[in-house]
Amino acid sequence: QCAANSMPSYPGLERWRLIEKIGDGAFSTVYRASDTQSEYNEVAVKVMKKYEMNETQKQKLVKEVEIARKLKHENVVHLIDASETRQFSYMIIELCPGGELYDQITQLTSLDENLSRHVIKQVGKAVEYLHETMGIVHRDIKPENILFYPRVGNENDDEGNIGVVKLADFGLSKMICGVPTMTPCGTMGYAAPELCSEQKYTTGVDMWALGCLLYTMLGGFPPFFDEDFQAMARKVLRGEYEFASPNWDPISEEAKDLINGLLAVHPEERLNIKEFLAHPWIRQNSDSKPASH
Ligand code: ADP
Ligand code: MG
Repeated sequence: QCAANSMPSYPGLERWRLIEKIGDGAFSTVYRASDTQSEYNEVAVKVMKKYEMNETQKQKLVKEVEIARKLKHENVVHLIDASETRQFSYMIIELCPGGELYDQITQLTSLDENLSRHVIKQVGKAVEYLHETMGIVHRDIKPENILFYPRVGNENDDEGNIGVVKLADFGLSKMICGVPTMTPCGTMGYAAPELCSEQKYTTGVDMWALGCLLYTMLGGFPPFFDEDFQAMARKVLRGEYEFASPNWDPISEEAKDLINGLLAVHPEERLNIKEFLAHPWIRQNSDSKPASH
């Protein structure tokens, strides 16, 4: 449907041959593209239209690129290069050919426990890297921003065809008070307690999002939903969700316990990323059959 000759051409992007549009946002369009200097490499090119942005939006864009440049982890999409012209800003990103987790969920309705664990464990590793090593809160963890590399020839095992999972889109990310070292807040020395606890508070938003993500993968629909925005906000504020029948009947108690730990309304009661990764459901080996109830 997308003929190569219908692809737009952008100033300063001559090295990359745009092949097809793979994503579309308010200010950005993402393309699959190939490298004219090496016929084997395909990349994702995120084109951002600066001319449609106000000053605040432009500043956010600078932050997004600045943060993306710092990141190097197997479960985070890798920024290969970034450049800009007067009108556009470009991010050349490693291509995740599997596309969005979102499409997998809508195709499969829900993912079984082993497949969900396979996915969320890797997102958790990315979050651990962001929170513990980099001092960054992602703030936009959702199925559209979780991409993957299908592992060919593996279609029939527990991993489905999902393979390696990568967290993308640092457009809403924030650096938090100093980069934490092994002892959180130890680097700051003179910082007041509320500065340290603010760090905990902000990382909590990613943990909440992990809870929503796990719930959605296992149950096939999100934990909080209402046509009416006010009613929806009320449910979130009260932490009003349930493991409704029949979808949730076959799901293990361990999985529900983990979701409850993540969807705790008070951030100080919510699991942090270390506790998440140490949870029995996460540590369970998908090779061994889970105990049937
Ligand atoms: P936005 O800020 O507009 O949400 P994203 O960075 O999330 O921009 O990219 C939008 C969409 O483009 C993603 O949801 C995904 O479908 C696609 N996309 C982005 N980066 C990649 C990539 N590296 N590989 C494959 N698809 C990608
Ligand atoms: Mg996005």
